[in-house]
Parts: sequence; C-alpha cells; structure tokens
Amino acid sequence: MLAIEWNANQGWSDPIIKPYEKISLEPSAMVFHYSFECFEGLKAYKDKDSNIRLFRPELNMKRFKKSAARLSLPHFNGDELLECLKKFIRLDEHWVPAEKGYSLYIRPSLIGTQESLGVGATSRALLFIICSPVGPYYKTGFKAVRLLATTDYVRAWPGGTGDAKIGGNYAPCVKPQIEAAERGFQQNLWLFGADDEITEVGTMNCFVLLKNEQGETELVTPPLDGTILAGVTRDSILSLARSWNEFKVSERKITMLEVVKAQEEGRLLEMFGTGTACIVSPIKGVHYRGRDLDIPLDPKNPSNNAGPTAKRFMDALVGIQYGEIPHEWSVIV
Ligand code: PMP
Repeated sequence: MLAIEWNANQGWSDPIIKPYEKISLEPSAMVFHYSFECFEGLKAYKDKDSNIRLFRPELNMKRFKKSAARLSLPHFNGDELLECLKKFIRLDEHWVPAEKGYSLYIRPSLIGTQESLGVGATSRALLFIICSPVGPYYKTGFKAVRLLATTDYVRAWPGGTGDAKIGGNYAPCVKPQIEAAERGFQQNLWLFGADDEITEVGTMNCFVLLKNEQGETELVTPPLDGTILAGVTRDSILSLARSWNEFKVSERKITMLEVVKAQEEGRLLEMFGTGTACIVSPIKGVHYRGRDLDIPLDPKNPSNNAGPTAKRFMDALVGIQYGEIPHEWSVIV
C-alpha cells in the first residue's frame, strides 16, 4: 500500500510504500462518524509487451481532488500523486495480471482521521492506495441486465453530492439495490424529479441510443448537472462517439416518458451502463412503474447479448486500454 499522512500544521508527509497492513485509528476518528471519506477506482493493464498501462489516470486524480474538496479534506497535487501511484505500480508490477481482460484494480482513498466528535473540517487525514488483481467482468461474453427503475429512493439531487465520489453516497444505495435484487433485477435505474429523469444505473453512468422524434440517431446521456458522477468511461464514450461523427451525441436530460415512447414506437435502439469495472453493461429490460419494457440488444446477432454500438464502444475501449489501439489515453507506467 501507499500511504501519505497530512496534518493542518505540517501539511503532507513523505509518501511511504509499505506492505498492506492494518490502519490503527481511534474510535473517535472523524471518518467513523461523519463519513469523511472519498475514493477513486481505476485499473492498471498489462499489454502484450508486458508494459503496464493506466487509462486516463489524470481524470481520476482530478475527480479525487474534487471529491476531497467537497468534504473539506486537504488539497493535494494530482500530478504528484499520479507519480507516486506510478512508482507504486512499478514496484507491484508482478501483481498486474498478464491475460487480456484481467487487470489490477487500484483504490485510492482519503479519510479524515482527527479524533473529534465535533463536526468540522478535519485537522488530520490519511491518503492511502491499495490494489487487487481482478478478473474479467464478463468471463463468457456480455451479460445483459434487467433494471428495476427505483421510484421510492433518490441517489442524488441538485446541490447534493452526487457528482463526488464519496463513501457517504454509496452505503445508502445498497438497500434499494438489495430490494431490486430480491425482485430479480441485477441493477437499479436511478431516476430523479417529478418527470422521472434517468440519472445513473447502479454505480454506472447511463446511455440511451435512439432515433429521436426528428428521425436522427442520437446517443443521449444525462448532463453533468451536479447529480451525475463524471465517469471516466462516460467521458471516453462521448469523445469516441463525437470522433466517429456518425450520429448525434447529446448530454441532455432524458425522461422515462421519452424512453417509453421511443420503445413503443420502435425508435429505442440500445441502452447501457458504463463504468471502469464493466466498461459497458448492456441493458435488456427496465421494469418501470409496474411495466416491463424490453430494450433491444442486437436483433441481427442475439448471441452477442449486447447492442452493436455498446459492443463497438467496448471493443474500442478495451483495445486502447490494452495498448492494441495506440491512443494518448493509455499511459505507460
Ligand atoms: N457513477 C457512479 C455512481 C460510480 O460510482 C461510477 C464508478 N466510479 C461511475 C458512475 C462510473 O465512473 P467511471 O467510468 O469513472 O468508472
């Protein structure tokens, strides 16, 4: 693990790379009471020449800093932290699996460690990074998911913290997730507002591909209005789609009404979630206010279990991540 301590008087200590070990904190440490915790998630990939690669890690650093700032946790230099991370990954190189689809998951966290039951900014903090090898999300091809549209809980709201990757956003989302699972759904679809705007899918961003009322093919994802986490995968898919220039690409509000109407009129083409873990998660159905909506996958190749556009994004991103498609997003460590 990599560990860097901070206190308000002396600032950041020298970074230390040491064996994974327990953290010793007093029960009154602020992280245990008021959720002074933010984190990141990214992966290191080994290419066929045994280079270790990170995917757009500067975006994770930027988001980490933003999350920390939202919790009044200390500022740090993202470029310097990235250099520390690279050194750490180089040392732990043997933990990065070599097979394609496998990777080393990297989890940076920042916690408030001051012993205090008073609510205020922490005067002490600990930044640490741990890692774990992970296998492919889909071992035998895509697995499309069915979603329960959650109408009685909200993940994020205007002026809230939905755009920060903080622990406090995640624990409350588990109960709705369990309830969805008990009803046979793999994930839940988070909605917001009186008109049931689509926001995110489980812990993923959400994309809808449809033919809009004007007859244009349009890829839609909700805008970064403060309720949406700025996913690295989301940004990458938007950039790729814009560079292909084959269909309209929109960051705009999209409601369930629009999706239901498009589905009824045969204009709904694909729906998928996106995130570092799965990259692309095709959606084959949504249960919404008592109705089951079937979402198309690939009518021409049903065995793909994913729509052609979702599959195309997946192939492009995996190709870049494993260095098979040369791209500035893939950074050799
Ligand atoms: N939304 C939420 C709530 C998440 O936790 C994540 C995972 N970090 C994402 C979206 C996807 O983000 P990314 O593409 O950076 O993994």
